[in-house]
Amino acid sequence: MIRVTTFAGKTVAVFGLGSSGNATARALIDGGATVAAWDDGEAGRASAKQAGVPLVDLHTADWSAFSALILAPGVPLTHPEPHWTVQKAQAAGLEVIGDVELFFRQRAADMPDIRVVAITGTNGKSTTTALTTHILRTCGADVEMGGNIGVPVLALAPFVEGRIYVLELSSFQIDLTPSLKPTVGVLLNITPDHLDRHGAADDPAGALASYAAIKERLVASADHAVIAVDDDWCIAVADRLARRVCDPPRIWGTPVSAEPIPSPSLFVHEGRIIDSPLPDIEAVLADLAGIPTLRGRHNAQNAAAATMAAKYANGFVGDVEKWLQQALSTYPGLPHRMEQAGTLAKAGGKILFINDSKATNADSTEKALATWDKDIFVILGGKPKEGGITTIAPYFQRIAKAYLIGAAADEFAATLEGKVAYEVSGTLDLALAAATRDARASAGAEPVVLLSPACASYDQFRSFEHRGDAFRQMVQAIPGVTSGGMG
Ligand code: ADP
Repeated sequence: MIRVTTFAGKTVAVFGLGSSGNATARALIDGGATVAAWDDGEAGRASAKQAGVPLVDLHTADWSAFSALILAPGVPLTHPEPHWTVQKAQAAGLEVIGDVELFFRQRAADMPDIRVVAITGTNGKSTTTALTTHILRTCGADVEMGGNIGVPVLALAPFVEGRIYVLELSSFQIDLTPSLKPTVGVLLNITPDHLDRHGAADDPAGALASYAAIKERLVASADHAVIAVDDDWCIAVADRLARRVCDPPRIWGTPVSAEPIPSPSLFVHEGRIIDSPLPDIEAVLADLAGIPTLRGRHNAQNAAAATMAAKYANGFVGDVEKWLQQALSTYPGLPHRMEQAGTLAKAGGKILFINDSKATNADSTEKALATWDKDIFVILGGKPKEGGITTIAPYFQRIAKAYLIGAAADEFAATLEGKVAYEVSGTLDLALAAATRDARASAGAEPVVLLSPACASYDQFRSFEHRGDAFRQMVQAIPGVTSGGMG
């Protein structure tokens, strides 16, 4: 745990008692603060009691006694309206911050030179965070990984000389972190998703701009800004930072490109990661071909950004071509993100079963479909998002057949009508059975049964993890399936 001493002797309100809220309360108490913790839900309060965190009903508390409100990132700061605790804090003139802010203040107080890689983007955050950690560990670094992935930041091991922290940060977390100042800031991509929290209902264009501005702050505050310049928003961010006169970060673009890119850059061209630190100097650092956990153009983006982040967090030491290729090839992948759930021999080849349950929007599903050029038997549906699957139309010809489940089935059927063969399966088990039957009968040597639903899971499952676990279990129960492990 990282002890938070920056509020020693003061009283702090903590609202939102999930795992990060409880870790925050414990870190503050251990650092000498008094904590008044609360959650509107019974489950949150029960977990606090179990963690030994003192509860105070913040509805009736005296807010003039507090020095700050520490808010869990899931709690609305501004939209659709500020949470009641935020309103009380503002009325009392208190700052409203998050656990990541406490992390950065503690680093500034204790060990300002500790290296921190902070990673954000609409998609690919977890993959890039896990991959950066894996690359750094492969070359022997002492790395702690946390934030929006796995372990809350304040529950990570304490600062010690030489340790590197790799943090996944959502825009909600960045919004609560005014002192954000990573050694390396990574921005992967910016596309419209999760915009409700930024006021999309009243002003969609304004919401996207404010969401992008929050993400921009992460790279703008970094010593080294790694920006995957593959979409217009990220290109604009890189241009703006490059033109900044006062204290600009060092900017490194990492495009996935059809053409080699002018230096200084690290880019991906035809599946190879190429470092071009100086004009006319190009070194092929690694080849992504055949790495099952890094399939697809989107993973090329993640791999390039992770490689660049590792370079500026730790330097490219030793025989970089050798260890980088080894690191990428041994990346175990994350569950539910293009996870190979199993394979099944068929006449003339094999069926690949891919669990991409984390693809809860059309943009992510598009990335999955872009991975194979044909023979995709895709399971789509769940609780639909605004816009449905209309944006993936350019990939329709890659789909051999779609199997529709959940609340989105009728809407998606209307989108696919006359363009893609589909059936309304209703539930995941029926969809998997039908897709397996059709893949087995297909002529292709490596058909893919892909769960990449482009929808939230809540109509039929507790979470995307629950949906993906169910899919993996069902796949592995098919007679003859060889377990795919993580790839
Ligand atoms: P996040 O943590 O940002 O939600 P993940 O790494 O968990 O991202 O990946 C979630 C899904 O997003 C993956 O299943 C994949 O379909 C898609 N994805 C991953 N990386 C990218 C990327 N760089 N660009 C677009 N989509 C991506």
